[in-house]
Amino acid sequence: MLRPVGNRVPLPKSENKLSLPWKENYQTWLMGSGTEALSAAVMLAVGRRQLEGTTPEVILPAYGCPDLVAAVVAQNAMPVLVDLQPNLPFMDTERLDEAISHATVAVVGVGFLGLPERLEKLAKIASTNDVWLIEDSAQCFPPDCVREPLADCVVLSFGRGKPINLMGGGALMVREDHKSLAQNCLPQLPVFERKIDWKWKLRRKIINGLLGRRAYGLLRRAPFLGVGKTAYKPLSGVSRLRFPDELLDAGIDRAQVMASISEKYVKALEFLKPQGWHLFMEDVAAAEKHAGRRVLRYGILAPNELARNRVIEELNALGIGANSFYGQALPGIVGVADILGATLEDYPNAVAFGDRLITLPSHEDVTPRDVDVIESVFKKMLEV
Ligand SMILES: *Cc1c(COP(=O)(O)O)cnc(C)c1O
Repeated sequence: MLRPVGNRVPLPKSENKLSLPWKENYQTWLMGSGTEALSAAVMLAVGRRQLEGTTPEVILPAYGCPDLVAAVVAQNAMPVLVDLQPNLPFMDTERLDEAISHATVAVVGVGFLGLPERLEKLAKIASTNDVWLIEDSAQCFPPDCVREPLADCVVLSFGRGKPINLMGGGALMVREDHKSLAQNCLPQLPVFERKIDWKWKLRRKIINGLLGRRAYGLLRRAPFLGVGKTAYKPLSGVSRLRFPDELLDAGIDRAQVMASISEKYVKALEFLKPQGWHLFMEDVAAAEKHAGRRVLRYGILAPNELARNRVIEELNALGIGANSFYGQALPGIVGVADILGATLEDYPNAVAFGDRLITLPSHEDVTPRDVDVIESVFKKMLEV
């Protein structure tokens, strides 16, 4: 069974030569997780505005990780959802304009499966309204702000199933112009130390072993892989983390030497286009080469939910870890609707995206043969 996600955990490098590619423009704070890093970014955005007697609002895409909602709620702020553009994982900018109010403190631009949001467009809207832009780059490495520091803060995750897997942790990048705001707030957060001792190394061995084909086949529902992580889990607190630079350095190297299989996917699945399928990650292969970024999984949209479910079933029967990712738009996830007071009817494009999305593995162990198998499954199904 070919697991859906998961890069192996590296060992720390032997020398400390860490040089972060964003160090000119952003300060880096290691945090307990990606969710905690996002929550800390929201904390800074709320602190900057000092709204009296109004609940601050943070704008999120209507299709996404429930952790986004948890990160906002943990700061006593209100998540406000914006629908997607049709057939794309990006926010509809007209809807975004409408969603911004006097209480908005930040807009979160969320990269999806290695595809960054269009930060230029979002940054323009954010600065016009004097609100922060936060780039959630948990699924994209390097973040898009390495190219141009458009976002006020950037969030990275080092959890399982992310481009850099350090068995947990995250980072908050704060742009230089907000340095003193961060200096005033972040040092007050509790700090945990992560030691790279024999226990850590043993855990690493076990996790990496479980990422093999045989083990994953036996353990395919293992929660440690974070697959189908679509339950809402409140965030109980935000803390900082300390671990050696040598570990982060090794993780960054690992994320950038990953083989890229997307070009192969683009060619293999092109024939689906005239049949009502959307290959929304088509351009990513070229973009990847440019940015040194790898896709986390290769996503495509089926013409409808029925075709989507059939393909996933067929692929899983053949040992290919295909899945529907979050499965549905945010208001459809248990626990989220109550918080938001929003319903699925308000976000038709996000709902359609959630109903039609298939994601295919593109991690370091996917071979061209696997893609051939995937292609033949699609071809067989479309004949019927
Ligand atoms: C995984 C993820 C997070 C949360 O990161 P954790 O380290 O798991 O807390 C936030 N945003 C996005 C887009 C993610 O994919």
